[in-house]
Order: sequence, then C-alpha cells, then structure tokens
Amino acid sequence: MNTQIDSERKEVALVTGASRGIGAALARRLAFDGFAVAVNYASNEAEANVVVNSILKDGGRALAIQADVSNSHEVKQMFDTVVEAFGRVDVLINNAGVLPYVTLAETTDEVFERTYAINVQGSFNTMREASKRLADGGRIVNFSTSVLHLALPTYGVYVGTKAAVEAMTRVFAKELRGRHITCNAVAPGPVATELFLKGKTQEQIDTFARMAPLERLGQPEDIAGVVSFLVGPDGRWVNGQVLRANGGNV
Ligand code: NAP
Repeated sequence: MNTQIDSERKEVALVTGASRGIGAALARRLAFDGFAVAVNYASNEAEANVVVNSILKDGGRALAIQADVSNSHEVKQMFDTVVEAFGRVDVLINNAGVLPYVTLAETTDEVFERTYAINVQGSFNTMREASKRLADGGRIVNFSTSVLHLALPTYGVYVGTKAAVEAMTRVFAKELRGRHITCNAVAPGPVATELFLKGKTQEQIDTFARMAPLERLGQPEDIAGVVSFLVGPDGRWVNGQVLRANGGNV
C-alpha cells in the first residue's frame, strides 16, 4: 500500500459537546484510539471533568474546555487553549447540539434563534476556525440526524438546522482542497441520550426502538465507532459524505 496517502500524523482531537451523551462516548473512544482529547462543554463542568478524569485514569490525555459554540469569540479561544495544551489540532468533531420538540406553528423566535445559533452557527464557527487552525491531513466530522429523512412532526426547526449542516459539510469538503483534510457528517438515528429520551413516554421510546430492523435504540458507543472509523486511517477516502448510522430505520 502507498503509505504516503495518509501519512500526516493525527494526535489531537477537539470534541464539542463532550460532557455527556454521544460526545462523552466520542471523547472516550478517541482517547482509546490514541488521541489527546479536548472535551468541550457549555455549562456542565462537573460532567466534563468526569469524562476527562476517566480518560486520564486510563493513561490518556484530556482537557475540559468551556465554550459556547454559538459564540465565535469563545470558539477562537477554545482553539487557542487546545493548541496551548497539546500543540496542534488534527480532528474536529462538531457534536454539540440541541433539539427542541415543538411544532413549527408553536416555535417561538427565541427557540428558533437558539437552535440555529447552536446547531448551525456553532458548526459554522468551529469549521471556520478549523480552516485556519487544523493541521493538514486532519479530519472534520459534523453531526446531522437521520430524522431529516423521516420528516416527523415537531422536528421541523431541528431538521432545518441539520439540513444546513449537511449542506455546509459537502461544500467545506471541496473548499479544503489541497489540505488533505476530510469533512464528513454522521447522521445518527435515535440514540439513548438525554437529548432523545427527555420528555418521552416508555411507549414512545419503544416505538422509536422498533423502527429500525435491528430493533433497538442506538447507544452512544455505536456512533463513537462510526466516528472512530471516519477519523482513523481506514476513513481516509471518505470525504464530503453523510453517513447515516441508525440500525436501518431510514
Ligand atoms: P445531549 O446528550 O443532549 O448532549 C449535548 C451536548 O452538547 C452536551 O455536552 C452539552 O453541554 C453540549 N452543548 C449544548 N449546547 C452547547 C453549546 N452552545 N456549546 C457547547 N456545547 C453545547 O445530546 P446527544 O444526544 O449526545 O447529541 C449529540 C449530537 O448528536 C447532537 O448534534 C444531536 O443533534 C445529534 N443527534 C443525536 C441523536 C440522539 O438520538 N441522541 C440523534 C441524531 C443526532 P452541557 O452538558 O455543558 O450542556
């Protein structure tokens, strides 16, 4: 095999929204894969520290960094902190996100703006910063959702934000030509985290679990495995794609 194809070293990963849910599993998995991991969080410092301490305990390198991804100034400072601590940034995982369950008719201006600010502007802020700060040969993984193609009631504003993320992913992959950086998105189906479970009855949860022919909810580790592939050596030829990971529900 031509070892020149993916020879750039990849050592440092920044995972947004890594204090809990999928992001926490991603941080642990990337640490297991050998990355020094920056564990970003918005407000849950204690939970971010739990993730960091579990990585340190296993002999890995990790650092918790508070930053609201919707704030471009804080995003810039977050990259500064990662570079100060670990010397470089090779991998950006744009996992931070929010999901309001509300019909379009009942969505307030505030909910609409907050959802777009975190999901769309947050991903934009980190990608723009990554264009200047990511080492050549790096990897970017954005987060969409399989529900974009299920088009379920009360998901309208949310899937609008994720459609924007998918569109930016495909364009950014092309704009990074010459840098050997791949940019992809993962679109999970329902995953058993607070974001999905909160406010649902057991019956609703069971209905979602049965939608996939594999007949269960996704676990954060299922998604972490997909991201590990995309940022690892075997993901080198996947670029500008959206990879659905949903047990086959759409
Ligand atoms: P979650 O359990 O609710 O965790 C959300 C994470 O995002 C937390 O770490 C939170 O930090 C962080 N966060 C929220 N707002 C932020 C901000 N402004 N700046 C920085 N971090 C912020 O969510 P999840 O289920 O793991 O979802 C992760 C991603 O997967 C999201 O993009 C979501 O849309 C996508 N997704 C999830 C599912 C699912 O079923 N769970 C399905 C498809 C796609 P704090 O702890 O500090 O609040």
